[in-house]
Parts: sequence; structure tokens; C-alpha cells
Amino acid sequence: MEIESMVANSALVKAREGGGKGRSWKWKEMLRFPQINQCVDLAMNIERDYYSLCVKQPIGKKLFQLFCQSQPDLQKYISLQDALEAFETKSDEERREFGMSIIQKFLRSQSGQCVSTMVMHEESCLQNLELDPCGDVFQDCTEDLHKHLQGKPFMLYQESMFFDRFLQWKMLERQPITKHTFRQYRLLGKGGFGEVWACQVRATGMMYACKKLDKTHVKKRRGEGMALNEKQILEGLDSRFVVNLAYAYETKHALCMVLTMMSGGDLRFHIYNIGVPGLDKDRVQFYAAEVCCGLIHLHEKSILYRDLKPENILLDDNGHIRISDLGLAVRLSDGSLVRGRVGTLGYMAPEPPFRARGEHPKSHEMERRIQTEQEEYGDKFSKEVKDLCALLLTKDPNQRLGCQSSGGRGVQSHPFFQKINFRMLEAGVVEAPFKPDPRLVYCSDVQDIEEFSTVKGVTLDQKDDDFYSKFNTGSVPVSWQNEVIDTGCFKELNTFGPAGSRSPDLVW
Ligand code: ADP
Ligand code: MG
Ligand code: MG
Repeated sequence: MEIESMVANSALVKAREGGGKGRSWKWKEMLRFPQINQCVDLAMNIERDYYSLCVKQPIGKKLFQLFCQSQPDLQKYISLQDALEAFETKSDEERREFGMSIIQKFLRSQSGQCVSTMVMHEESCLQNLELDPCGDVFQDCTEDLHKHLQGKPFMLYQESMFFDRFLQWKMLERQPITKHTFRQYRLLGKGGFGEVWACQVRATGMMYACKKLDKTHVKKRRGEGMALNEKQILEGLDSRFVVNLAYAYETKHALCMVLTMMSGGDLRFHIYNIGVPGLDKDRVQFYAAEVCCGLIHLHEKSILYRDLKPENILLDDNGHIRISDLGLAVRLSDGSLVRGRVGTLGYMAPEPPFRARGEHPKSHEMERRIQTEQEEYGDKFSKEVKDLCALLLTKDPNQRLGCQSSGGRGVQSHPFFQKINFRMLEAGVVEAPFKPDPRLVYCSDVQDIEEFSTVKGVTLDQKDDDFYSKFNTGSVPVSWQNEVIDTGCFKELNTFGPAGSRSPDLVW
């Protein structure tokens, strides 16, 4: 490896170490709360929606909970809410007992911790638990809990200092984003419209991958629609199996999407580049299961992905995968059909394992094989794997596994996935079978990634600026708030005055 690559890699490895070390020495200044009377406009304009403010936005949720904990008659609701969330992370075996303890503690009128407005759920929750501890045991109870909280408690919250503090955080969230928001590390990869770089938020130390689309390339190849489409689809998603968008901003030369950092490299790299080629069965099962969860999430949001292939499946620090590169994805509006065909030949449904090693068939020949030839299986395929592949490769889409009304859930219930607990996988509490080495950089050496050329003779004008301003929307609220919480900045900064009084910045 060349010295340049080694230097770039070690800088990246060091930056990833985390633990607050990556923050700028000026981080507290960067995240200093504005005086509360600077938040008046925001207070007038922010949508007073309980679900958005107290459930969906992570900092909003935390502050609402802090408010409830400061009110003696609301504390129990938060304890119940915490218990219900913990219930979702329990293993199948633990659920019966843990569920029982929730019922006894919170739903039984004799209990000191009883939430009296919820006792009518005792019987039905007991029955649900008896019937199937892995089902949605507390669904009605949870809905009712929120129904209660969104009434008077939500109203009182909006008059408390906790909501004022939330407004201050929102002001920080809306600070303009520029290239100075980030430190840049090495080049990670190259795509159709530009490069992907490792970067770090100066204020929090959070690592991300920045996908930069070169403005001249986008214009020359009329990629505006595609760029905006990718950005808008990503900002509407929130799945642990799809990369998240944290920021969208522009520089003089590029449109930038700041995405979840996936340090473990792509699946293609793991299949071909490391040690003995190929993956063992546990890993195949695990990755396939997670991809399946990701696709189900996309389909639930009416999004067709259309570019599934090993290069677009990325591993994170812990060895979990996320689907990335949503440039070709489309959102279906009700009842509409998508026409036209995109993707990568060889990976279009029904995907064709029809190319011999070293063979380069022409595209029409590939298409013929995909549509007419029967695939063959070597003797390394177990019966289950063969069966799953055959079902997924069925030529007639109406007969194909995954295309029936049960969709991806049908795929998940195939015997190949028998060992996978999808409930726990989706709750994020399953260990990955392989964890990338934190000292390694799982991508090609810097100098082996082809340089990205700029296009000459393209001038940018007013119409381009209109499009850039649609793209350039700054922080994505949920991602930004998670960043502030996960890096420990929230905990360090979210302090109040003595004995729960307002701190000076919160005094009107
Ligand atoms: P394109 O749409 O142009 O194909 P991609 O989104 O696939 O661009 O990104 C190009 C390459 O950059 C990927 O193959 C991968 O190596 C790297 N890359 C993309 N996103 C990330 C990420 N979130 N984390 C780490 N590397 C990434
Ligand atoms: Mg790609
Ligand atoms: Mg793409």
C-alpha cells in the first residue's frame, strides 16, 4: 500500500474511535442555546402535533418525558412507556414473564404503581400474553397511553420550560449547513455523479459518509430529477435497514447528501475480496434476512427500490447491513404503475445466475437467458437454499415468492430463515455473525479509486439555483436529533437551573 493511502486510512481509523474525542474544542460554542426570546417565530410556526413533537422526534420525546417526570401524577405514564419499550427488546422466552410483570405493576388496581386510567386493559393484555407472547400484546394499551398523554399533559408541556428548551434545540437544528460543518477524511468510493467521502460533524464528532454529486455532471446528464428524487425518498425513511439521510446541503461545485457511515464496506467486497471468497451460511442467512426487512420497509412506504445488488448493500461498524443508493428508487402513488426499465442487467428480476465465469454475453443474450433458461444448481446448494432460490427466480411474477399478497413476509417465512427471529432482528437486538475489524478500512485504496473528472463547458444559471434550493434543505430533524443524543452532546448540554428552575437562557 502506498504511503498516501496509509496516512488517509489511519486518519480515518483514528477519527472513528469516538467517545467525544472527535468534537471540536469549540463544540459547546457551536451548540450554544439561543436566548429563548429568539425562538418566538419558531414557537408561532411550529406544528403543534403530539405525534411529531413527542413521539417521532427523539429530542422532543426526551423533553416531553422529562416534563412528565417533573409532574408527580405523570411519572407513572413514563415508567409504563419505558417498560413497554423494553418489552419489545426481550427474547421470546423472556416475554411472558416480563409482560406479566408489566401487567402486575401498572395495570392492576392493587399495585402502588398502577396507572389508573389503564386498568381496563388488564384482562385483554393477559389474554393476549397467554395466546401469543410474541404478538402485539400491549397494542391497545399503548394507543390508549398516547391518547391520554396527548390531551392535558401535552397542553401543559407546551407551557413548560421543557418545551422552550425543545425550541432552542430546534433552532440549533436549523442552523445553516455548509462544508464548514464537517471535517473531511478519505475518499470511500465513486459513483455515477461524483464521489463519496468520509466526514465528521465538527460540533458532535459524529462520522458520516458524504455523497457529493458534481453540479456540472448532474446538469450535463440531466440528473436533477434523479438527485432530488434520491434525496426526497431518503429523507422520508426511517429504517435500521436503509441508510439514513442526515443532511442535504450544497457547496459551490457539489450537491451533498450526508448519509449513515457504513464502515464495513459493501457486500461485493466481502464476497470477493476478503480471504477465501464467499460467505458462510450464517452470514448469508443474516444478510438476506436484513435485506428482506429493508425491502419490506421500502414497500410499506410504497417505494420500489430497483437496484438491489451486492455493491449497494453496505455493512456498518457492528456488521449489520443497510440498503443504500436509492437513486433509481421510485415512489408509487396510489394505484399507479411504473413503466420503463432501470437497474443493472443481471440483477433485474428474476435475477439470472446465468453467466459462466469470465464470460461476457451481450445484453440481448443475457435477457434471453433470464427469460427462458432454467437455472441449474451445483451440489453445494442444500435443499432449502435451492428451494428458496427456485421460488425467488420463478419466471412468472404472479407465481414468484415475495410477489404474492403476503409480500416480503412470505419470503421471511420460508424454512431457509427458520433460525432467524425477525421480530428481534427488527428491534435491533440481534448480534451480527461477523463484526468488521475497527482498525481496518474496508474499501479500495485511495489511489485505486478512479479520479472523478469535472465536465467542461457547462455553465450554471438561475434555473439551476431554483433546483439547488429544493435540494439544499439542511439537517433532517430525526437524524440530527439522534446524532446529538448518540454522541452524548444532549446529555451534557441539556441542563437546567438549580432545583429544576429555568436556566438563564430560558428566562423570557
Ligand atoms: P451511485 O449512485 O453513484 O452508484 P453510491 O451511492 O452507490 O453512488 O455510492 C458509490 C460508492 O460509495 C459505493 O459503492 C460505496 O463504495 C461508497 N458509499 C456509498 N455510500 C456509502 C456509505 N453510506 N458509507 C460508506 N461508503 C459508502
Ligand atoms: Mg451505486
Ligand atoms: Mg445510484
